[in-house]
Amino acid sequence: MKNRGVKVDKMSQTIPVKKNDYIDVEFVDLTHEGQGVAKLDGFPIFVPGGLPGESAQIKILNVKKNYGYGKLIEIREKSPYRVEIPKEDMHKYGGCQLHHMSYEGQLQFKQNLVEQTLTRIGKLQDVNIHPIIGMEQPFHYRNKAQVPVGERNGRLITGFYKPRTHEIIDTDESVIHMEAINDAIKIVKEICSELGVTAYNEEAHTGVLRHIMARFGRKTDELMIVLITRTEKLPHREEIVGKIVAALPNVKSIVHNVNPKRTNVILGEKTQVLWGQDVIYDYIGNVKFAISPRSFYQVNPVQTKVLYDKALAYAGLTGEEIVFDAYCGIGTISLFLAQQAKKVYGVEVVPDAINDAKKNADLNGITNVEFTVGEAETVIPNWAEEGIHADVIVVDPPRKGCDAALLKTIIEMKPKRVVYVSCNPATLARDLGILEAGGYQTLEVQPVDMFPMTMHVECCALLKKI
Ligand code: SAH
Repeated sequence: MKNRGVKVDKMSQTIPVKKNDYIDVEFVDLTHEGQGVAKLDGFPIFVPGGLPGESAQIKILNVKKNYGYGKLIEIREKSPYRVEIPKEDMHKYGGCQLHHMSYEGQLQFKQNLVEQTLTRIGKLQDVNIHPIIGMEQPFHYRNKAQVPVGERNGRLITGFYKPRTHEIIDTDESVIHMEAINDAIKIVKEICSELGVTAYNEEAHTGVLRHIMARFGRKTDELMIVLITRTEKLPHREEIVGKIVAALPNVKSIVHNVNPKRTNVILGEKTQVLWGQDVIYDYIGNVKFAISPRSFYQVNPVQTKVLYDKALAYAGLTGEEIVFDAYCGIGTISLFLAQQAKKVYGVEVVPDAINDAKKNADLNGITNVEFTVGEAETVIPNWAEEGIHADVIVVDPPRKGCDAALLKTIIEMKPKRVVYVSCNPATLARDLGILEAGGYQTLEVQPVDMFPMTMHVECCALLKKI
């Protein structure tokens, strides 16, 4: 790290490239957004489309003090993992930063990323990092989509925003959405288009339909449709509902949400059920979940089960343990663990998520769980003061990792095991380092690919008190 700092400082005086240069580079890494990273004497240049291991000619587009941007001109040596997507199929790959890499290559890249990060940043030694668990079918895994609606040639279009713009790429096919979701969105769009519903125009803040959301219960086959409009009124409401029900036999819930604001936030505050139930249901393992338009629910149910089974195995429960689930969300992990623990205490900062967690506990008749709203770093020390001590603590924090105060509390509380579920290897590495300095040892780490075609990688780590 130190060397890299020195190099960048030096380079900031002599930046090795200038705008419009054509140069040959080798790609050594990928950014979060999946752009290739080349280094010239330590000076990083980001190039969309470049893959690690490739050499290529690039054109420099833009140079800043500590990094530059380039454009791929010609690949001289191809990665064995490169896959070519025909231009006419590119519209299916919205949100897929790794569409140009084979699935085998993606898994290897993610495995390396986890291993490198844990050894370099976390300085972990003797930890058993298992091979990443990928999907057998890495396409069509997402159970939720919320697509922007636009207009072209007098018809409604849906798709995804071209990166860094608000221009909609018109497509009904996404290789990551479940087929049921792709079909539902296409049908709903066509129904609204036939009936002359207008699309929301962002610039003028006029028009009606902003987004169509679809959610699907993989185990239950239940479908929810949410129509998000700028206007209070949804024109042709009865006809829309009638036609959706006729065309989509799996639909269990049709909801209208009003978002009158100029904002990038998709859902507005007002929600009304137009037809059917206010929630749909799904299962992860044998735990049932109610999903409303707003509920957080894991988008890849197949791999969620894989990840949470691992967390459960790492928790090593016998039925006698008190477990804390910090960052518990809607209680997915808590409810999973409760089946094998004496009692689970979940804490989460978003009140709606805790409401969902409580409902989900009732739905499953699980009574040995207690959910509290608050910051994990504040609530858990309070539990300790009240004399509630955990045998096992599970954490599943957002990308920024655990709060330092929480890690300190864990170290003081001395649970026998800590299970760390992480969506960011860098903060996982940092936090494992802190826990190791506080008397824990990381025994195993299991990477899981929850989001094929994207740069994301999840890990589950087991630490024991030494
Ligand atoms: N395990 C959960 C998802 C966890 S995602 C599930 O499976 O549903 C991370 C969660 O941490 C989010 O729900 C977020 O709202 C919550 N969060 C963020 N900061 C927090 C804090 N300081 N204390 C408690 N929860 C927090």
